[in-house]
Formats: sequence, structure tokens, C-alpha cells
Amino acid sequence: MTRLLVDLGRLDRARTATAAAGLDALLISPGPDLRYLAGYEALPLERLTCLVVRPDADPVVVVPRLERSAAAASPLGAAGVEIRTWEETEDPYALVAGLVPGASRVALDDHMWAEKVLAFRRAMPEVEQHLAGPVLRELRMRKTPEEVDALRRAGAAIDSVHARMGEWLRAGRTEREIGTDIAEAILAAGHASVDFVIVGSGPNGASPHHEVSDRVVQPGDVVVVDIGGTTPEGYCSDETRTYVLGEPAEEVSAFYAVLQDAQDAACRWARAGVSAESVDAAARDVIADGGYGPAFVHRTGHGIGLSTHEEPYIVAGNTELLEPGMAFSIEPGIYLEGRFGARIEDIVVVTEDGSAIERLNVRPRELVRLEA
Ligand code: ZN
Ligand code: ZN
Ligand code: ZN
Repeated sequence: MTRLLVDLGRLDRARTATAAAGLDALLISPGPDLRYLAGYEALPLERLTCLVVRPDADPVVVVPRLERSAAAASPLGAAGVEIRTWEETEDPYALVAGLVPGASRVALDDHMWAEKVLAFRRAMPEVEQHLAGPVLRELRMRKTPEEVDALRRAGAAIDSVHARMGEWLRAGRTEREIGTDIAEAILAAGHASVDFVIVGSGPNGASPHHEVSDRVVQPGDVVVVDIGGTTPEGYCSDETRTYVLGEPAEEVSAFYAVLQDAQDAACRWARAGVSAESVDAAARDVIADGGYGPAFVHRTGHGIGLSTHEEPYIVAGNTELLEPGMAFSIEPGIYLEGRFGARIEDIVVVTEDGSAIERLNVRPRELVRLEA
């Protein structure tokens, strides 16, 4: 991924945030936090690669000797961040401990492997370990205009795949065959990778995270299609539309109208200054009033950026107030066990002036009729 969107100002902001949190260091292993801070797409190996961010010293990245040239070729190298290598017989945890002498509190990235967390504990037995998530979420949740543009491009790419759904989604084909075609199209639309393909036909649509199966799609089926990938810039797409093959049953149309109202209500409500949980409630109240409350079995949405699921989560109990630049999904669903389900999902971003959200997916949100 050579066109990864990078902003090394993030390293400075992380340094400030580390100091503000009273931490002596952030220790960041390969994953979305490392991509976010340093644009370095390191291999997640058993060997330790670790970015060390300290309040009063320049950042250092510790890498195994054999990864040195990869690190140097990344934006880290171009920015002149110091690369410290370790040999196969050295202890890289002791090396990192030596970079934070006298530390009393460090924070580890939320997805660090347990074996590495415990090795750090052994290397620094007196040092308190915390999660870096609460520090980095403050940076990652608010997207810069460049990041919003990158999410816009991801949204347009996945829209173009939904626009072609009639080419593949037909009665007589299995979900798996349809899913294989969709995955190819996700790449053809400019994504660097396919993250997930959900084709939930008929009763399978009532399971929100169903992927694909060998079920043959039938005329009249309601089909939930939820798809996403990662663009070469590193940003994720995620969009759900619900299709029907042929004429929908009357009951299906009525049920779907409730869902569409709910999704629309949440999109109209969301803006700067309202809480994440109130956006969830905006969708949930409409579904409950429509008589389907217990059939909406998940939160209304999740933040999105370099990860498909990140903060802010749009869920009851999250009192976080939305701010300009926050990007997240609004994806209510109604699931009738054993029969069918439906979901509508757009990625949205709170506008610069905070007065509304912009939807980054613009495909029609009606129940989309395809030829059986
Ligand atoms: Zn999901
Ligand atoms: Zn989705
Ligand atoms: Zn989603």
C-alpha cells in the first residue's frame, strides 16, 4: 500500500496527548494505531516491532533487523524517525525498557498481542501498564478534512459496487457465488482489499453477521447485502442495502418502511453537540413505535476510519458528544428470526460547521427491486 495517507503531525499530537495523560510512553505495535501515527504497515510478527512515543523525546521505532529496510521505506523513514534495530539474539523488550528509564506509567496499544504485553511486564516489572486507546481515540475519532476525503472516496467506491448488484444477485444462484462476484467487484472498484461480504438471503438475512452460504437465492427473497473493503489509502468502506427479487410481499413493504424511517430519523438527528446514544435512540424509537423493537438486536453504528469498527460507537450508554469530523455508520436493522431481515447502512460524517451530517454513501435507500 504505497499511497497510504499519512500526516506525521499526528506523531506530535500523540506526544502532546501522552504528556497530558500523565504517561511516560505509548508503546505501539503493528496495527491500525501504528498505521495512523506513522503510516507504517508493519507485518504483525511474533518478533517485536514497536513505536515508542515519549512526551519529552523524539519518537523511536524498534524493529527486528530484517524489517529495517521496510521501516526505512515507509513514511517513518522519510520523516527521519529514528529506527533502532535488534538482532535475533537480543531482547527487544529490554531495548524498549532502556528507552524509557525511570518510567512509572506506559500505555500499550489496545490490540497488542498478549505475549508482548506480558513480555513488557517482565521487562518493566515496576511500571504500570495502561491502554493507549483512551489517548489515541481522542485523535483518531476526529477526522481531518484529508481523512474525510479519503472516506468519501471509499464511500464512492463501495456505492459503485452496490450500483452493479443486479449483475450478480439473481434467483437460482447461491449466496457464495454471488459473494465471489461481489468480492471481485470490490477490488475492481479501487479497494486494495476486501474486508467482508455479507449476502443474507431469506432467513439468513435475519442473522446480522451471516456471511455467505450455499443457500440458493429464491424469487421473492429479501436479501441483505453488507460489503466493505480498505482503499489503498488505508481507509475503510462499509455499506448495506437490502434487495428484493421480484415483487415484495405487502408485509415486507410495511416492515421496510419502518426501517427506512428509522435510518432517516437518525441521520436527520445526528449533528455536533448531540450524544452518540441519542442517535441510537432516534433510530430505535421509530422501530419500537413500529412494533419491531425487540427485532433490532444491535447498536445503531460504529466509528470508521483506518479500522472498520472504531470509536465512536453509536450505542445506548455512550454519552460522548458528536463533533465535526467524527465519522460513523448509521445502520439500524430489523431481523425476523427464521423469516428475513433488513438493514440500511450509510457511513456519515459530522460536517465542518457541525449543523448536520454528510452521508458518504448515496445509493437509493428504498428496498431495491431486482429482477428475479
Ligand atoms: Zn457489523
Ligand atoms: Zn456493514
Ligand atoms: Zn457497519
